[in-house]
Amino acid sequence: MNTGLWIEIGTLLVATVGVVGGLLALRQANRQRRLDLGGLYLQRYWEIDDDLLRLPKGSPEHTRARHRYLRLCEDEFEAARRGWLEPDQWNVWHAWLAEDAARAQVDVDLIACKAPVDRFLLLRECSSVSAQHSWKECPARVRVG
Ligand SMILES: [Zn+2]
Repeated sequence: MNTGLWIEIGTLLVATVGVVGGLLALRQANRQRRLDLGGLYLQRYWEIDDDLLRLPKGSPEHTRARHRYLRLCEDEFEAARRGWLEPDQWNVWHAWLAEDAARAQVDVDLIACKAPVDRFLLLRECSSVSAQHSWKECPARVRVG
């Protein structure tokens, strides 16, 4: 083989390694963005949970905290539908939200917060299923609009 061919093969190898490295770095950056967003949601969750424990039940502030929790859940559903959350993390969160007790609590919170029927649509879709279900089975995942 002549030197020119070796140089071309070497250049091709370097370019291939560069492209693969770039794709791996992009994939890792996307995963980190999903984890960062999940971290923000966790932080919001604990703030709301602290308020729910601290504020007198039945007070307007407590009702507002329940409303903030519903908003958080709705935001998480929307983010999950768009692929902005790490799938493993969201599957755990959704499994918890899809438990019988959690779905029943959502229904109680929607009433207590006097949430209009055209709000929290993804949360309502998930809650409307009569049994615990996975994210793959959740009607909120495929809801149009
Ligand atoms: Zn669901």
